[in-house]
Amino acid sequence: MSVLLVNYDGFAFRDGEEDQALSGRLLFTLSYLRFEHVDGTWELPLQRLTLDQNSAGNLIFHDEETGWWFESSDVRILNDIFLLRQTHLRTQARELRERREGNRSLKYALIFLAGFAGFFFIGWLLVKAAANSLANHAPVAWEEHLTDKVIAEHPKLFVIDTNDARITVVTQLVARLAAALPPAERRYQFRAALIDRPVVNAFALPGGRIFVFTGLLDRVQKPEELAGVLAHEMAHVTQRHGLRKLIAGGGPYYVLRLFVSDQQGVLSVISAGSQLLVNQYYSRDVEREADTIGWHYLMAANIDPRGLADFFQLQTESEATTTIPEMFRSHPATSERIASLNRLWEKSERKSGFVQLPAMTNAPLTSLQERLLRSFKSPPK
Ligand SMILES: [Zn+2]
Repeated sequence: MSVLLVNYDGFAFRDGEEDQALSGRLLFTLSYLRFEHVDGTWELPLQRLTLDQNSAGNLIFHDEETGWWFESSDVRILNDIFLLRQTHLRTQARELRERREGNRSLKYALIFLAGFAGFFFIGWLLVKAAANSLANHAPVAWEEHLTDKVIAEHPKLFVIDTNDARITVVTQLVARLAAALPPAERRYQFRAALIDRPVVNAFALPGGRIFVFTGLLDRVQKPEELAGVLAHEMAHVTQRHGLRKLIAGGGPYYVLRLFVSDQQGVLSVISAGSQLLVNQYYSRDVEREADTIGWHYLMAANIDPRGLADFFQLQTESEATTTIPEMFRSHPATSERIASLNRLWEKSERKSGFVQLPAMTNAPLTSLQERLLRSFKSPPK
C-alpha cells in the first residue's frame, strides 16, 4: 500500500520558532498528515489541520492545538487523494487552486499586455524616427507643391490683395530677415502676400509662403512688430513645422505609405492631408520654438526683437474686442509667450544699436482710393 502514498518535500516549525524549521517529507494517509524527519515522525489528524497559502505561494498546514506548522512548495498536494477525502481540506484546496489559477491568468495577461505595449512602443519609436527623417529630408519642392495645392483648394481663403501698397514694406522686411538667416537655413525662397481681411494675424505655409492679413497692418504701430511676426512665420517655415504637423497628423499608416510610395505617390499622399495645414494649430511648444528662433532671426538681421512681444500685446487687445473666425486664431497671444520673450530680452547681451526701420504708413488706402483702384482692376459689368 505504501507505494501509493505520494510524499512531498517540506518542513515543519512551531509557532514563534520559524528559525528552527526542520526539513523532511510530508505525506498523507487516510486520517493523518505524517511528517518524516531524520529524528522521528509526527502524525497529526487531518481533521485538526487547516490549509492555506503564505505570501511566498507555499502551502501551509496549521494545527492550532499543538502550534505546529507544515510548509511545502509542492502544489501537487492540492490534488492528493487522501487530503481530498477530508471535506474541509477539499474545500480549502479547491479555493487555493482557484486563487492560484486566477493569479496565473492575471500574470499571463500582464505579460501579454507588457509584450503588446513593448511591441507598440518600438513601433511607435520607429514611426517617430521615420517621420522625423522624412520631415528633415523631404525636398523643398515637395513643400512648395503641397502649398500650391493648399492654395488651389481654398480659393475663398487665399484672396490675394494686390492693391495694397503696404506689401512693399512686408516684402522688404522679409528680404532683410532672409538675408540674415544662418547659411544652413537658406534653402527657401520666401514670398509674402497680403489677404484683405480684418484679422490681426499672419501665417506661413510650407515652402516659404507667408500671408499677412491687412488687419495686422492696420493695427501695428511699429515696423518692429511686423518684423517680429514675419520672423516668427519664417521660423515655422525653416523648421518645417507645417510638414511635421502633416506627417504627425497622418499617423503611422500615413507615414508608412509615404515610405513605400514613389515620389509621385508621396506627393499625392502628403497633399491628401493638406486640410490639416489650414484647419489646425501648432502646439504651444512649436509656437514657443518659432518665437525663440524668430527672435534669433531678428537679432541676426539687427532688428530690435521686442516687436514680437509688443505684437502679442496688441493681438490680445484686438482679439478681446473683435470676433475673429476660429481658424485664424493661430497665434493665441498668451501672457506665457510674452513672458518667455521678455526673459530672452533680459538675458540678451545686446540691447541697443538696432537698425532704424523706416516708419510704417499705417493708414490703409482710403475707401475712395480703394474703389478707384478696384474699378481699374475689375471689368465693368
Ligand atoms: Zn506661429
